[in-house]
Amino acid sequence: MSIVLEARPQAPPVSAKTASARGGMLGTALSQLSIAFDRLHLSEGLRAIIRQPERELTVAVPIMKDDGTVAVYTGYRVQHSSARGPCKGGIRYHPHVDMDEVRALAMLMTLKCAVANLPFGGAKGGISVSPSMLSERELERLTRRYAAMIFPILGGKRDIPAPDMNTSEQTMAWLMDTIAMLQGHATPEITTGKPIALGGSAGRTEATGRGVAIATIETLHRKQREPQGLRVAVQGFGNVGQYAANILANEFGCKVVAVGDETGAVYNSKGLDLASLTEHVRNSPQRLIEGYAKNGALDHITNDELLTLDVDVLIPAAIENQITAKNADRVRAGVIVEGANGPTTFEADQLLNERGIVVVPDILANAGGVIVSYFEWVQDLQSYFWEIDEVRKQLGTVMRRAFAEVWTRAEERGVDMRSAAYLLAVERVADAIQQRGLFP
Ligand code: NAD
Repeated sequence: MSIVLEARPQAPPVSAKTASARGGMLGTALSQLSIAFDRLHLSEGLRAIIRQPERELTVAVPIMKDDGTVAVYTGYRVQHSSARGPCKGGIRYHPHVDMDEVRALAMLMTLKCAVANLPFGGAKGGISVSPSMLSERELERLTRRYAAMIFPILGGKRDIPAPDMNTSEQTMAWLMDTIAMLQGHATPEITTGKPIALGGSAGRTEATGRGVAIATIETLHRKQREPQGLRVAVQGFGNVGQYAANILANEFGCKVVAVGDETGAVYNSKGLDLASLTEHVRNSPQRLIEGYAKNGALDHITNDELLTLDVDVLIPAAIENQITAKNADRVRAGVIVEGANGPTTFEADQLLNERGIVVVPDILANAGGVIVSYFEWVQDLQSYFWEIDEVRKQLGTVMRRAFAEVWTRAEERGVDMRSAAYLLAVERVADAIQQRGLFP
């Protein structure tokens, strides 16, 4: 099979249209991928390699429940590509986790790492489970058994997990400990997003939100706009949304006028009191905005109203498929910075581009998390740990470099930023595959 980068006249097996029709995040990612393949005139061999994950593992994970009964959950680990380095990607616990979702997220990780030019490929894992239905002890048993079952394909030079939806530092501590017990020696480099006491990195928790803030400021600079006083709306007030909102307001002088979560949104045209709102959310048992009523001038609005507010910057930082063909024509922000993975559907993306709205795509905008995960891995391998100022400085350097490369590519090719990010990422992955050649 030839994997030479050459123009091929025939259509790819999965066209943009077919992929999009499959819907969901996998459909969107495959659609964008097909467009990038065509623009790069990639050979059919390279397309076929990049389109499919290298390795997929499905495991049955039995655990003893607290009441003595046995429950069996389905877990997954997908390694999309190791062409540029060890596979890297989070583990999520959610009832909707299935092979298609994990595949899509693994591919996005390959592309995200390539956009940031990190020496990693992409992976993702997950268990189809409602974690809120399990006790802490049951979650620990689930994590340890899952870790033991995917252990044969993990490794600091093979595949390095991290937390994702409904998993945490504690999950990574259990995973790392399980692998250390199986291997008989310490293995901090097996995972990132660990507690600092176990070899985690300073600045990891804030990293994705800080990266989103940096991407926002870089976009504003390119548009010759000063951040001071610009109106920002943030959907999702969890890890990413909270840090992005607070950093934009406190360090860059933006006016965050609205934030929302799964319970609705709050709005104040003069700017929200983020300190008290953040404190309220961090102290609430479910970490929700609901019940926050401190500021008298506050309006309660819906998520749809938040997404279509008259603001300068909109940051979707909650879940996927929030800006769709149904609301894209009503979005009034001039800049959208995707904190979440896949918040904009393929169709909505086209509509926003036609309207000249700048969308900073997820694989660039929320790369701060994996960038500091990379720093964590480097620190673990060297057993030498950095101060937070060093982490922030290096994060800024890598984010700004990636942003500049995507922006320049967009200008050179006359395309939107998502297309440019995909072009850059696919080109880097294809180049690595080509230079390595095929084994045997
Ligand atoms: P989180 O669980 O800490 O917070 C999620 C927030 O979204 C919460 O405020 C929740 O109430 C809100 N939310 C959930 N469903 C909603 C809905 N239907 N409408 C409005 N709001 C809703 O999660 P997070 O870590 O902040 O991640 C948010 C997004 O960013 C996810 O898409 C995640 O994959 C992505 N992301 C996170 C990181 C990271 O380091 N945490 C890195 C890259 C990408």
